[in-house]
This record gives sequence, structure tokens and C-alpha cells, in this order.
Amino acid sequence: MPDQSKNTFDVINPATGEVFATAPACSPEQLDAAMNAAQRAFAGSWSRDEEVRRAALRAAADALLAQKDRLAAVLTAEQGKPLAEAASEVDGSVRWLRYYADLETEPEYLTPPGADRRVEVTRRPLGVVAAITPWNYPLLLAMWKIAPALRAGNTMVLKPSPFTPLATLAMGEVLQEVFPTGVLTVVTGPDPLGNLLTGHPLARKVSFTGSTATGKKVAAAAADDLKRITLELGGNDPAIILPDADPEAIAEQLFWSAFRNNGQICVAVKRVYAHESIKARLVDALAEIAMSVQPDDGSKPGVRLGAINNEPQLQRVEELVSDAIARGAKAAAGGSRIDRPGYFFSPTILTGVPADARIVSEEQFGPALPVLPYRNVDDAVAMANDSEYGLTSSVWGTDVEQATAVARRFDAGQAAVNAHAVGLRPDLPFAGAKWSGLGVENGPWGLHELTQLSVVMAPSTT
Ligand code: NAD
Repeated sequence: MPDQSKNTFDVINPATGEVFATAPACSPEQLDAAMNAAQRAFAGSWSRDEEVRRAALRAAADALLAQKDRLAAVLTAEQGKPLAEAASEVDGSVRWLRYYADLETEPEYLTPPGADRRVEVTRRPLGVVAAITPWNYPLLLAMWKIAPALRAGNTMVLKPSPFTPLATLAMGEVLQEVFPTGVLTVVTGPDPLGNLLTGHPLARKVSFTGSTATGKKVAAAAADDLKRITLELGGNDPAIILPDADPEAIAEQLFWSAFRNNGQICVAVKRVYAHESIKARLVDALAEIAMSVQPDDGSKPGVRLGAINNEPQLQRVEELVSDAIARGAKAAAGGSRIDRPGYFFSPTILTGVPADARIVSEEQFGPALPVLPYRNVDDAVAMANDSEYGLTSSVWGTDVEQATAVARRFDAGQAAVNAHAVGLRPDLPFAGAKWSGLGVENGPWGLHELTQLSVVMAPSTT
């Protein structure tokens, strides 16, 4: 991890395992300056002029799009994902900016006819928002916070993960050309900077995406002065494969729902419960795809699976796969680290995994997928819901009505039929159940979380 006593820290390219750049380590004094600038910008016209903000979000979208290739190249170099996926993160960020620029909002409540007092219920911005993001989708997840917060009239200080500071810094530079001074500042540094940001007295709200363990610390730190919080945390998403599913037909889509970005997605399929009558066919079909995919440097053309982002993450995947194998599981594909520089692990399909193995019960966040059998659907639903997490979930089968009835039984923020995590859209609420989160992002619901309700009453003059 970075050394906090220096004023820069190293950034590693996960495809080589080598340092390729340094990033600034923001000092407490610099953080204070950023927070004060955000407070001044909030106190100015920014928080009062909605049309200016809408126009700024549109201009920001255009500016990002113009820099797509450059941002994608930086993102791939520090994160490891294929260039095409890095580019689609920029596209996604643009989509979120445009959605919030165009979203129409109404006053919550206006005076009913004949009332003796005028009543106005409106939503006001909160002030300075402290935002903290993880390393798996640095640009898109930052934009899930930036676009609604700024649209609502807040200002923001944003801290990306120390594993992936550069793309967010580059995006911040592009956006600083568009937004007034102090409206958005990106600060980078090791983890303790996140703690300083969460505890900063000028922050009125903390919007955090990351692990559940860190989310709990953020909640505790924010409790001191009752800052509002939104937490988007870990997941351990189940997929239930019904007896009438066609294993060979769904395998490709199911595989990429688990392995895109090396499974380093909070909403990746992490556990498959396949009906015992079709489990063996599904394992074979998934294993065949896994063996045909060759992870490589994401900056090379045509690569579909890049490197794992960092060494601790690679070690964790290794540890959980070894633990499952030691407990009797078999790797139908993969099972080990790839012997080459950088952080690579073979896409792994595990069968014969005990239901209480760590790779089933913990969020492993890597390119390894346990496939477990079940006999009746009630058991599958019970196993799927037997988790501290409840982010997204899916059910796969030919009879869509029957599958939809199962989808309604998941204890999760989202459930999909014959697809996984397709509800990640700017207009739909994203809200994890249980330890997967607190609060909601996206749509008007996400905007509301960045506002304060306010009631004004006055004697009626008519
Ligand atoms: P992490 O919790 O280690 O770090 C996330 C961020 O928090 C980083 O910027 C880090 O520097 C910062 N941080 C660390 N300690 C802090 C502290 N005490 N106070 C404030 N900030 C602190 O998570 P990660 O390893 O970067 O990301 C992976 C995790 O993120 C996984 O658990 C994944 O499921 C989760 N995630 C969730 C979502 C979602 O929307 N629910 C999306 C993506 C990732």
C-alpha cells in the first residue's frame, strides 16, 4: 500500500505488476482547501441556478466524450480491464450526466385549493458532498455520485481508490474546465484520506461505494455529527437455474455475467444454484467457455478478460479457491494463478463445493464461480437468500412467468429473469438490501437522497 508520509504514491499496471506512474497524496491541509473551495462554490450562485447546472452537466457530457480514448487508455493501464470496457465506462458516465441534466422534477406539494395558507414543499441541496469510490469502476461509479449531486445543487469533493486514482483525476481535470471553481474537486491518497474526508466538518453528506467492512467504518465516522450517508456496498449475487432452462443456450450469457471484469463487479453472479437434473450439463458448458478465454493485457486489441486489479485481490481469490478445493471441490476449469507477470488467474468453474465453503458465503470478487446443485426450488431460494448480502440476483428458465414468480422471492435490491444486473440504468433505483447498502442511487430517488426537504408556509393572499 502507498506510504502516507510521501507526497506522491505509486500506481501499478496490473497487467505487468510494475509501477508506471505516481499520483499526488493529498495532505490534510490540501483537503481542507478543497472542502473550503467546495463550501464557497456552494454558497455562490451554483446552488441557486438550476438552469446553469443543467447546462453544465450537458457541457460536461460533451467534454468527457471528446476525451473518451484518452480516459479509457488511462483506466485500462491502472485498472486492468479491456480497452473496450474502459471506453464503455466513459459512455456510461456520459449517459448519467445527460439523464440528470434532462430529468424533470416537480415541487413535492403545493397549496390545495381553498386552503387558508400557502404551502410549498421543495427540495434543497445539502451542501458539500464527500464522495468515495472503489477501484472496479472508477469513472462510472464516481459519475453515479457526481451527476445527481451536482444537478441537485450540491458541490463535491471526490476521493477515488488509491489503486485507481489516475482516470478519476483525468476526468476531474476535464470536468474542471466546465464546472465553476470548487464545484468538483478530486483528491487522491491512501485509505486514511477517506477517513479524513468522511469526518470533515464541512461535509454534509457522505456518498460511499466500496466494501461492506469499510462502509461500516464510514457509517460510524459519519455518525459523530449525523452526516447523511448513502452506502453502496458488497454483493454475493446468486443465480438460480430452473429445471426447464437450456444449459448450453444460457451458458455464454451466464458466464459473462459472472466473469466480466474478472468478477470484480459488485453485481457479478457469485453463486450458481443449478437444478440437479441439468447441473452437470451447465458445468460442462461453462467450463468450455472458461477454457476458451485467455486473460491478457487489456490494452491489447481483442482481449475480453484483463488482469485482476491488484495483488491482495489476486491472493484473496487464490485463497478462497484453494480453500474450496481443500474441502473437496473440483475445478472443472482453471483453479490457479497464471504463471506470467502481472495479476492473472484462470477463469475458474468449481463443482462439488460444500454449501458453507468460504467461496460461497463470502464476497470473493474474482474470476471463480461455484456451481451448486439443488433439488426443489424452495431450497434454491432459501440458499440464495441465506446471505448477509442482497444486491442483485437472477433466475434462468424457459417458462418466463414461472421464473418471474421465483424472481419476486429474492431478498435483494434487484432481480432479473434470464439476465443478470440489467437494471443498472440511470432511471432505475439501485438499492442493496441487507449488508449490500443503505439508501439508493440513480433515478429521482438518487437525486432525492442528495436533497433536504423544506416546507414554507405563508398566509393565503387570495
Ligand atoms: P474498499 O472498501 O477497500 O475501498 C473503497 C474506498 O474506500 C477506497 O477509495 C478506499 O480508499 C476508501 N477507504 C478505505 N478505508 C476507508 C475509511 N476508513 N474511511 C473512508 N474511506 C475509506 O473497497 P474496494 O476494495 O476499493 O472495492 C471493492 C468493494 O466495493 C467490493 O466489496 C464491492 O462489492 C464493492 N462495490 C460495491 C458497489 C455497489 O454499488 N454496491 C459497486 C462497486 C464495488
